[in-house]
Amino acid sequence: MTTIDRRTVIATGALALAGAAAQTGAAEAKAAPKPVFSVAMTTIPIVGERDVFPVRRIYCIGRNYAAHAIERGSDPTREPPFFFQKPTDAIQNVPVGVVADHPYPSLTKNYHHEVELVAALKSGGTDIAPEHALDHVYGYALGLDMTRRDLQNEMSAQKKPWEIGKSFDHAAVLGPIHPVSKVGHLTKGAISLAINGKVRQESDLSKMIWSVAEQISKLSEAFELKAGDIIYSGTPENVGPVVKGDVLLCKLETLPDMSIRIV
Ligand code: MN
Repeated sequence: MTTIDRRTVIATGALALAGAAAQTGAAEAKAAPKPVFSVAMTTIPIVGERDVFPVRRIYCIGRNYAAHAIERGSDPTREPPFFFQKPTDAIQNVPVGVVADHPYPSLTKNYHHEVELVAALKSGGTDIAPEHALDHVYGYALGLDMTRRDLQNEMSAQKKPWEIGKSFDHAAVLGPIHPVSKVGHLTKGAISLAINGKVRQESDLSKMIWSVAEQISKLSEAFELKAGDIIYSGTPENVGPVVKGDVLLCKLETLPDMSIRIV
């Protein structure tokens, strides 16, 4: 009776496993795994371009105009900016020159408008210095950070995440992107929102507590920013409710208007 060396058995087994792995690898190389179904990529039209802007993430900054910070119950001094995200497919693209139907969402009885400047990034990184931050901006758009305020407030009062108030279908209303090469960097200029012809929100981009450059810098401390990220830069004061039938008209100096009807 021969004694089989343990190392021989292990080595032989390892060789057999390696052979099997090589065969499997060859089979996989022939047919690479593919998604079991397709998922739509969210894109945003670009003014003057046939090609579109692919969206990676949507960041939003909260309470970035002093008067709005006060109306939401916080200190308008330069406490660090805070951020939240909306799902990428929450974007509702609104073309220039039309009044787009916007569905009143489920669960809320206090649906609010927040008109905002949106910055779209063509590149990113981590720990971006404010003086280099605008180099990453591809362009700007007019946006509405639509909010189920009652749900946001209820969750906030319970110290629970208020995602349900901010992150839902169609919650990121957005006009087309205007490339920096055509409109420059938007650091000042009137921003406003009217409902049925009556102005409700009216301010100036220069009144932001944290500039877009500073927002990018601060965001990049917390997240690695990448091309395709967009940033809702905060809303001025006088947010308020909308009801079905209301027509909202958003204006941002130098950009075409954006309009939706609540249906
Ligand atoms: Mn907002």
